[in-house]
Order: sequence, then C-alpha cells, then structure tokens
Amino acid sequence: MANLTNAQLKNLRQLLNNNFTKLRDEVRAELIRSGEKHYADLVSGVLDIGDESVADMLADMDAALFDRQIQEIRDIEAAWLRLADLSYGACIDCGGDIGYERLSVYPTAKRCFTCQSQREKTYAHEATPRL
Ligand SMILES: [Zn+2]
Repeated sequence: MANLTNAQLKNLRQLLNNNFTKLRDEVRAELIRSGEKHYADLVSGVLDIGDESVADMLADMDAALFDRQIQEIRDIEAAWLRLADLSYGACIDCGGDIGYERLSVYPTAKRCFTCQSQREKTYAHEATPRL
C-alpha cells in the first residue's frame, strides 16, 4: 500500500462509497424514468461488492444509456479491488505514490499526476477528435 495513513484510507473508502451510492441512485432514477421498474428495484438491492457487479448488470441492459455510469462504476469497483489487494494508491505505470491530495479529488485514480498527464498527451489526439 502506498504511503497512506489509516485515517486517509478511511476517507478515501468513504468517498468511493459515496460516489458509488450516487451513481447507483442516478441509474435507478434513470431506470424508473424509462419504465424499467424491475431493474430499478434490482439496482437498489445491489450494493455489496462481490454480490453482483452493477456495471455488468447494466452492460447487459442498455449500454448506450448507461455508458458513463458503467465506466464510473467499473472504476470504483477496480479501486475497491486495489484496496483489497493493497495496490491502491500506487501508480500503475511508474509504481510511485499517487498521493493523498490527488486521490482525495480522484479516489479512483490509477496513475500519478505525471503519468496521467503524459498519457493524456499521448492519447489526446484519439480521445478528443476534432474536425
Ligand atoms: Zn506514475
């Protein structure tokens, strides 16, 4: 685990949980609006990770409608897994500490600021196509 105190980890876990709950509620509201009451009830019941992945469930339903939410839920699930295997907080590219300040803004961050900037520079061309 990177240089994070227990109190910092607790805060980050809380942030991830809050973001997850918010996303789940967004998805639920969206489902109710679109008349999918059955799935809305299912989504509300799915909160425990390891139970069933909300992202997988949504992917089976209507990927286009939930694209952003699916991506964000997957990011949160991946962060939970990194917390579980103690790789959380370490940059997946250089292995350095991502740092608490960055994580407290982006609790799902997988890269340190330097590697992320580098990556965005490299892929900026593909990520934001312009005419
Ligand atoms: Zn890095």
